[in-house]
Amino acid sequence: MSTGRLTIDLDAVAANWRALDAKSDPGVQTAAVVKADAYGLGVGKVARALAAAGARRFFVAVAEEGAALREALGPGPEISVFGGHMSGDTDMIHDLGLVPMLNSVEQLTRHFEALPGHPFGIQLDTGMNRLGMEPPEWATLRDLILSQNPRLIMSHLACADEPTHLMNRQQLDTFHEMTEGVDVPRSLSATGGILMGPDYHFDLTRPGIGLYGGLPFDNAAPVVTLDLPVVQIRDLAAGESVGYSNTWVAEHATRVATVSGGYADGITRHISNKAVMFHEDTPCPILGRVSMDLITVDVGHLKGDPKALTLLGTHQTPDDLADVGGTIGYEVLTQLGARYARYYARGRG
Ligand SMILES: *Cc1c(COP(=O)(O)O)cnc(C)c1O
Repeated sequence: MSTGRLTIDLDAVAANWRALDAKSDPGVQTAAVVKADAYGLGVGKVARALAAAGARRFFVAVAEEGAALREALGPGPEISVFGGHMSGDTDMIHDLGLVPMLNSVEQLTRHFEALPGHPFGIQLDTGMNRLGMEPPEWATLRDLILSQNPRLIMSHLACADEPTHLMNRQQLDTFHEMTEGVDVPRSLSATGGILMGPDYHFDLTRPGIGLYGGLPFDNAAPVVTLDLPVVQIRDLAAGESVGYSNTWVAEHATRVATVSGGYADGITRHISNKAVMFHEDTPCPILGRVSMDLITVDVGHLKGDPKALTLLGTHQTPDDLADVGGTIGYEVLTQLGARYARYYARGRG
């Protein structure tokens, strides 16, 4: 093994979907968000595992992502596109049977002109000011849009990772006001909203990060393990330095392992001199700068020389590593590089 080994536990993904599905009433449909190549984990394999677990409805960010997903899933499951109907997407939306979530008057016009009768949904902006129609716009067009039978009306919460944030209640109220009396399935919640309870569930939920083992779903089964092989080991005397710009200098003699992996693999430089890797249960501090393809690690306290060290796993989740690097688990996962050997495991040994 010369590149990192990224193991993705598909049974854990399926178990996380079932666990989130079990948090809402049986009448509420639980979809699956698999945008960004299923948060970096491989949309084909992940989506098939989710479909086998029972997911029937999938969301992607842009129409192009719908192509790989349709190929993986076949014709049955519904694939919706958060970004809506963008210019140039008409053929893809038509040929792949995608359901765009229309976000603006511009998109509505494009969709109704180019693909009359083709299924669509509506995204409303309830305060995040990112995507969706604003309340006055919606009020004007509501009856016209409803006459075209939208499949779904959705909005998105800005602060669902903080359940006590006042914004959640505000957006919930706004969503109720905007959709009162509407006889169309409604959806407001991603992972965070599901955890805030049934008031937020409506007819359909849209979990993403929780499926992949990430916060705010703190009971999630861990999904990823990242092992990096040791390329070389050397002994250092006190006073010697390690890596670019000599940012780490040995205070006493130690032994340093150089492992294969770096910022070209999505491992951020911001964890230099801060994060640890693991040899079984033992933490091994990263010494010096993370470089493009290599990381240097203190193994002086281990009994023998390790063949590989673990960066992500049960001892250090993507969220743990994100904390050290000043980011969030979502970013750690979606940055994972193309160079790893990927193994799709069923069940954890
Ligand atoms: C990404 C996204 C989701 C999934 O969010 P998670 O926090 O990953 O569960 C749901 N809805 C929309 C509109 C999104 O952009």
